[in-house]
Amino acid sequence: MPELPEVEIVRRNLTRWTVGRTVVRVDAPDQGRLDGDPEALVGRRVRAWRRRGKLLLGELDGDLGVLSHLGMTGKWVHAPGDRRFVRLTLTLDDGGVVGLVDARRLGRTTILRGRPEDHPTARALGPDPLLDGLTGATLRARLGGGRAPLKQRLLEQGRVAGLGNICVVEACHRARLHPHTPLDAVPDGAWDALAAAALDHIAATLEAEDGDEVAYVNEGGDNAFLAYGKAGSPCSFCGAIIARAVLAGRPSYYCPACQPLPN
Ligand SMILES: [Zn+2]
Repeated sequence: MPELPEVEIVRRNLTRWTVGRTVVRVDAPDQGRLDGDPEALVGRRVRAWRRRGKLLLGELDGDLGVLSHLGMTGKWVHAPGDRRFVRLTLTLDDGGVVGLVDARRLGRTTILRGRPEDHPTARALGPDPLLDGLTGATLRARLGGGRAPLKQRLLEQGRVAGLGNICVVEACHRARLHPHTPLDAVPDGAWDALAAAALDHIAATLEAEDGDEVAYVNEGGDNAFLAYGKAGSPCSFCGAIIARAVLAGRPSYYCPACQPLPN
């Protein structure tokens, strides 16, 4: 699934493929997940691609912006050709073509006037760990307290932007915290470790998955993670067997020895 590191890789690729080039043609075979007029992109030069959380923010000449949320399976690829599930393609003045491929069709693209950062969807996002840094104090203040499970709040994009199920499972594992720990039961000293673990996971994933196309682990890509999807495998820290539990329909993976759930 596209989470912060995967979206960052897509952003870097889109930057490499499109910035400085002018869009000469747009094909939008599927307009069901598209807002605004894609034809408005024609004749515009791409100035920049930025990212906030899991949201890609494109800026073009003429005060035109693009918001691209990749949903569950979306990715921008170079030269999509006759691949299946291509929802939108941009042809550039150097002959290059970039396409948005989205098998499950849960992503959304918005073409808008003005800075994409000013769109309400972007403004609603919390701090981004890569852009704004992440400390234990920030994390604690943004997540608040109470009985809610740590994982639930970490996934709320308005609190911290960009973390998805994989990032949260991996960060909790690296910090030796059970992802379902009630917020009030997170030890004072654990917040710094959790913030550092999230940043470590992001850095490791950026390095492991860098390339022209990210293969999402749920689509059969390599699993380079420590705990996510590793139920039944030994914990890389202690050798105990990684377990799986479900919270709000989404799987959590954890080491019962390193990450006991507090009473
Ligand atoms: Zn362990």
